[in-house]
Amino acid sequence: MSSSGTSPADIGSFWLASCDDDLTPRPPLAGDETVDVAILGGGFTGLWTAYFLSQHDPTLSIAIVEREYCGFGASGRNGGWCSPRFPINPSALTRRFGKETARAMLQAQQTMVDEVGRICEREGIDAHFNPVGVLTLARSAEQLSSLHRGFDAYVRLGMEEGCELLDADRARAAVHATDVHGALRLRAGATIHPGRLVRGLARAVERRGVRIYEGTEVLRTAGHSDPALVTASGTIRARRAVLLAGEAYLTGQASHRRRLIPMASTIMLTAPLTPEQWDRVGWSGGECLSSYAHTTNYLTRTADGRILFGSRGAPYRYGSDMCEAALRENANFGWIRDRLLEWWPTLEGVDFTHRWAGYLGIPRDWLPSVHFDADRRIGHSYGYTGHGVITSAICARALAGLVAGRQAGAHAPYVREQAPNWEVEPLRWAGIRYVQNAFLRMDKAEIAGRRPPLDARAATYLGEP
Ligand SMILES: Cc1cc2nc3c(=O)[nH]c(=O)nc-3n(C[C@H](O)[C@H](O)[C@H](O)COP(=O)(O)OP(=O)(O)OC[C@H]3O[C@@H](n4cnc5c(N)ncnc54)[C@H](O)[C@@H]3O)c2cc1C
Repeated sequence: MSSSGTSPADIGSFWLASCDDDLTPRPPLAGDETVDVAILGGGFTGLWTAYFLSQHDPTLSIAIVEREYCGFGASGRNGGWCSPRFPINPSALTRRFGKETARAMLQAQQTMVDEVGRICEREGIDAHFNPVGVLTLARSAEQLSSLHRGFDAYVRLGMEEGCELLDADRARAAVHATDVHGALRLRAGATIHPGRLVRGLARAVERRGVRIYEGTEVLRTAGHSDPALVTASGTIRARRAVLLAGEAYLTGQASHRRRLIPMASTIMLTAPLTPEQWDRVGWSGGECLSSYAHTTNYLTRTADGRILFGSRGAPYRYGSDMCEAALRENANFGWIRDRLLEWWPTLEGVDFTHRWAGYLGIPRDWLPSVHFDADRRIGHSYGYTGHGVITSAICARALAGLVAGRQAGAHAPYVREQAPNWEVEPLRWAGIRYVQNAFLRMDKAEIAGRRPPLDARAATYLGEP
């Protein structure tokens, strides 16, 4: 049981249930102490930062303070995609940062996928890393245009070698879903068991001497002459750096309240399919699978032969409220079950064994922020907009580099002080709910073979930078 009273069983994540690790929280902080680097948050960001810091300088003393247990947040609940895609799509990346930077950022993403695989091997983390690539289906005429625009963006960047355009026949041969008009294959990308990765990383950093305190909430952070994480059971002072790695949960801190919003994402998981069911589904490549639907979807074939189907989450809650109970009561479970059966009607009657949801962090401009203020000795990394499995590792390595005194590389626009502010409430709530609702109406229209509602199209400009 965690300090908030939310047990892993309450969360319902298959990944936590099957991570083969004891989720009883490690002992909490008891008393004051001083370390070189103190990190808030035991998800991928905090753990990767500790990993890269200790790799750079094994003599550093590092402590991680986690309110619940490592993997409690999005890191133990996600879709299991090691995505080679950046949160911002390739054409928007090019528009915003130029060709060279866009290409460098996408290549860094692809390289990090392989690096994560190598680290798992080196550290003995059996995270089911499977380098299967990414397959995005076009399931309507509108989606086919999006597919071609997506492919063209890679071509303009000179990255066509890593992509393949599949016509309708080849796409249908790859996945026997309904309404398949074509597909885009990215050769880079992998599926992973995120629960095993996050828990394995925690063990790996502990072996390197990092101390992890669980069940310990950071109540306040301090900077300037006396950087520290302040908790009810003691204060950790940091000689070199205090680092905030709480992603969506950072919205609970005054300093980050408007820097990102917590957005829910929701997952349904089937029981293992029989070989006959898999024959009907196709998808023998087991790629990270999705379509160009506005409400987003991400599908993963697990190592034990289940289908994970993830999609839109619960509606945004006023004031960035993050309610665990609201995640569990989320009405979108039904929407997702219906989508899965719409993709594969022959799976009618399939058992769903798990359902869960979690909060990810979205900055106003969809660009993550990595920053270390050497005077105040405070830093942070956040804002991966649903692509955090790989992007968090890239950002954590950049953050560890900044703490070690290294300059950021030329192609790292995410190394910046903060993301721009989201609007104040109630504007924020009204705008986000409009976009969420419009995306849903556009998808419903496409599914029904109707033209998308005209007024809803404006949401594309607001919601997909
Ligand atoms: C349902 C879902 C599906 C997703 N699918 C994918 C996917 O397939 N691929 C992908 O790349 N990304 C995906 N993501 C996004 C990805 O999981 C996240 O971006 C990433 O895990 C963020 O890692 P993190 O360590 O920054 O944050 P988190 O994993 O959320 O960890 C933050 C930690 O900080 C702790 N914390 C917060 N406040 C405090 C405090 N005051 N004191 C102490 N501790 C505190 C929290 O308890 C938490 O454990 C998904 C996210 C969700 C929710």
